[in-house]
Amino acid sequence: MCAPKQQFASDNYAGICPEAWAAMAEANIGHESAYGADSWTAQAADAFRTLFSTDCDVFFAFNGTAANSLALAALSQSYHSVICSELAHVETDECGAPEFFSNGAKLLVAPSSNGKLSPEAIRLIASRRTDIHYPKPRVVTITQPTETGLVYTLDEIRAIAATCRELGLRLHMDGARFANACATLGCTPAAMTWEAGVDVLCFGGTKNGMAVGEAVIFFDRALSQDFDYRCKQAGQLASKMRFLAAPWVRMLETGAWLHRAAHANTCARTFAEKIAGLPNIELMFPVEANGVFVKMPSAIADALRARDWKFYTFIGGGARFMFAWDTALDCLESLVEDFRAVSAEQTGAPVLT
Ligand SMILES: *Cc1c(COP(=O)(O)O)cnc(C)c1O
Repeated sequence: MCAPKQQFASDNYAGICPEAWAAMAEANIGHESAYGADSWTAQAADAFRTLFSTDCDVFFAFNGTAANSLALAALSQSYHSVICSELAHVETDECGAPEFFSNGAKLLVAPSSNGKLSPEAIRLIASRRTDIHYPKPRVVTITQPTETGLVYTLDEIRAIAATCRELGLRLHMDGARFANACATLGCTPAAMTWEAGVDVLCFGGTKNGMAVGEAVIFFDRALSQDFDYRCKQAGQLASKMRFLAAPWVRMLETGAWLHRAAHANTCARTFAEKIAGLPNIELMFPVEANGVFVKMPSAIADALRARDWKFYTFIGGGARFMFAWDTALDCLESLVEDFRAVSAEQTGAPVLT
């Protein structure tokens, strides 16, 4: 019995996890200074410095589009370019916000079948043109885990960072699901970021179980100059900042950020294992974080939708199933049972290409 029914179209269909919710209630007691001059915001920034074992600069934005766009704008001038994968959220799902907030810096898209950038692809794009007529490459952005649910290994990140340093490029990480990547690799957050050569990280809180809010973390503090003004101008300075900050304090100090993400990852793996052998069902990518991408005949997809399951089919025509901090095993099982039923009904149907 799966009640109330959960959907797996996105990990942001889930609500707020208990640690974040309790912190909001705690922050709601009494009055506090506004615009980030409160004790919760100071504590949250300190908690990030502890988590990353370094003296980084920390800012909070309402969502990932703003966090990514403002971070990339801080790293580039209007005549610069930003290298990303063709499946990158900044390219496909941010409505031109990175270009808008940087006053025209151009995204240069590297072809990638699985969403991962490589040193070779970066080098190819960065050295394609060196003349005055082309926007000067200045930044590389990688998504960890990728939009396809893959996790860059530490060696892969280090190799990308080394290429960036050699070519004079800054390295930004879109970590909308950063916690899921940490849970997968089992490494320290420092190892995956500044120790590997990442300059700026956008650490997602929303998909991790918060109501709202992403942290922008500058490991190279020289790059954060005037970032507070950039946030304010963009409408990203929360006057009641404590409600963005307090959930981070409790998520980080209780370890909920990591164990909630680990649960989501485990659910994705479990789901993938259960549907992998079904007729006409094919996994598109290895399952390394909290997403499972499935290729199946359109008749099966239609039959699943007819059974009231919601999912997107926006990457390579495959169906995406995302698991969250609160995924209930009986709902997961109910989805698996419907997969079994419709795949048996539709055996022989043509596979979606
Ligand atoms: C969800 C997500 C974001 C943030 O999106 P918002 O809707 O702006 O919060 C950024 N990058 C990736 C890869 C995401 O999946």
